[in-house]
Amino acid sequence: MTAQNQGLKIIALAGMYFITAWSISTVGLPDGFSLPIYLAAGVALGGVICCGARLWPGVFLGALAFNAWFMNYVAPSVDVPVFTMMLTSSGMALAAVTQALVGAFLFNRFVNSSTPLNRIKDTLIFIFLVAGVGCIVSALMSMTILNWGGHLPSEKLVQEGVTWWLGDVMGVLLVAPLFFVFRQPLSFRWTPARRIEVSILLLLFYITSQMVFGDWLQYSHYPLVYLLAPCLVWAAYRFGHPGTVIAILMVSSTAVWGTMAGRGPFTLGPLDESLALLQSYLLVLTIMTLILSAAATEAESAYTQSVRFGRVLDESSNEIYLFDAKTLKFVQVNRGAQENLGYTLDELQSLTPVDLKPDLSLKDFETLLKPLRYGTGDLVTFQTRHQRKDGTFYPIETRIQLSQTEVFPVFVGIVQDITEKKKTEEELAGHRHHLEELVMQRTADLESTHLQLLHAEKLSATGKMAASMAHEFNNPIFGIRNVLEKILRRVPMEENDTRFVRLAIQECDRVAMLIRKVLDFHSPSTDEKEWIDIHESIDDMILLIHERFGMRGIHLVKEYAADMPSIQAVPDQFMQVILNILQNAEEAIPEGGGRVTITTSTKNGNAQIQIRDTGAGISTQIMKNIFDPFFTTKPGVKGTGLGLSVTYGIIKKHRGEILVDSLPGRGTTFTILLPIKKANPAALPG
Ligand code: ADP
Ligand code: MG
Repeated sequence: MTAQNQGLKIIALAGMYFITAWSISTVGLPDGFSLPIYLAAGVALGGVICCGARLWPGVFLGALAFNAWFMNYVAPSVDVPVFTMMLTSSGMALAAVTQALVGAFLFNRFVNSSTPLNRIKDTLIFIFLVAGVGCIVSALMSMTILNWGGHLPSEKLVQEGVTWWLGDVMGVLLVAPLFFVFRQPLSFRWTPARRIEVSILLLLFYITSQMVFGDWLQYSHYPLVYLLAPCLVWAAYRFGHPGTVIAILMVSSTAVWGTMAGRGPFTLGPLDESLALLQSYLLVLTIMTLILSAAATEAESAYTQSVRFGRVLDESSNEIYLFDAKTLKFVQVNRGAQENLGYTLDELQSLTPVDLKPDLSLKDFETLLKPLRYGTGDLVTFQTRHQRKDGTFYPIETRIQLSQTEVFPVFVGIVQDITEKKKTEEELAGHRHHLEELVMQRTADLESTHLQLLHAEKLSATGKMAASMAHEFNNPIFGIRNVLEKILRRVPMEENDTRFVRLAIQECDRVAMLIRKVLDFHSPSTDEKEWIDIHESIDDMILLIHERFGMRGIHLVKEYAADMPSIQAVPDQFMQVILNILQNAEEAIPEGGGRVTITTSTKNGNAQIQIRDTGAGISTQIMKNIFDPFFTTKPGVKGTGLGLSVTYGIIKKHRGEILVDSLPGRGTTFTILLPIKKANPAALPG
């Protein structure tokens, strides 16, 4: 607020103070100083409450001006010096300021609401504390000053003081509320119906006030004041606090106007007495009407609040039930519950919660409610099911409380449909279970992989040892063979003995060759492609395993193509492929023996090698896994699960293909296709 603004407000308040004080004193005045209705007191208090205590100079100036004018022109005392009179006027102006500040303090301390007269409690405080007690200040101070200044004899002090006090109270009650009206936001809507209503009210007011205080009736002193009551009640009920304040003001001004003119029921004796009578009448009327208006507003706001609250409850996503604590019958059920259950409110009102809960007997339910009934608990929570009218169920979570605030005690149940929650919980549990299974599976896989790795390490170590042992055997075998040849050449023997020695030499050759093959196979791969003869390489591998085949009663059939071209391949890697497949075939054939057939042919520019066994076959479930590293169906550590994965890697590196065809229980065929490059015959080895 700027200083200029503040100054303007002070001047405006001073002006308003002076005009209200002056106008009432011009209407007609009793003897003495006290006015029966001193509206300026209301202006002072209203101004200070609404615009702040800093406006006090406005009150002071207005009061000073009025007091000076009053003492000079209305009640001049000839024998009082001007200085004393000015001192008295200032003192009384100070009294007005003090009263306004005390009133504002009381108001802010005890009411302090933006809509002060809409509540009964605030209204009572305003009437009896702010107006009633607050207005004692000015009366006390002013009477003292007037008496001291020699204006007022001591014997008239009490009577004048009471009139002064009541006049200020009236002024405060009539005018200060007007300030509240202008301060609070106007929630009033001017609909056409409202305009008509206000017009009728004004007309009624005009007629009744003319009948009571006007000169319509021949005898103008009939005790007809009660005729004004309907207008006030109407205003209080229909137009809230603003309407009430304006109506009271209108009634008061008419009453003062009529009484001054010597009309109306209060004109019984001298004007003094009449005005005092009127004052008490208006005081009572004002208090009653203000309280009535507050009651009406409060009741209406309570009603709107309960309606609003009811609507919110109705729209709640929870189901809300009120049921009689004695009979358990439903009293009130919100819309959400009615819709979910499929019952109407009427139907529900003949049911109890037990009728909706198929899993709970009346006894169980009563046991649950016990803590509430005996006051050992405030809230009971449990989960169960509700049954709809159509017989279907839904899971619920319910919270029940006991409410004693109703006319009769009721239980309030707030029920939540937890179908979705349950579903999510179940899904979560499912996921968790699945995850746990996956983790367990992976752990088991890892454990077996670890075992197989250990085994593979062992196999490769024994392979290396076998190779070095073969190397060690090589020299002794050649030594033995030399000795045998010498014996054959130098020692004359019988025919039979010669045959045995020749056989021994042949066996030595066979062992030597085996040693060479083992050494070849186990020497590190050169990774270099050479032209190889497919049949020869296969035969080399057969050499390594044919002993085992014989022992296990496995018959080996070779169906070699007559003119198989050479192919380019890394020799030891190609042989490893053949060996792996032959080994698997052997391991797949059961105890009683079987047959392994090796067929070679050419097909679409590829060399095709088929190895067919009569073993157990491969089931379709594991077919997709057999080329995975470490995948094995062989128990314990018999298999490493590496054979086929290594085989696959080698074939892919040679730009070939490997196919499996199997009939569980009948046997398996592995087909290898390797590209035949047009060989340069000159480059062919040997
Ligand atoms: P391993 O022989 O160490 O088990 P492989 O990679 O050589 O590992 O083979 C993987 C799996 O493929 C074997 O455990 C077996 O179940 C299946 N399999 C391979 N060859 C045959 C076959 N000829 N007959 C039946 N099953 C076979
Ligand atoms: Mg194998």
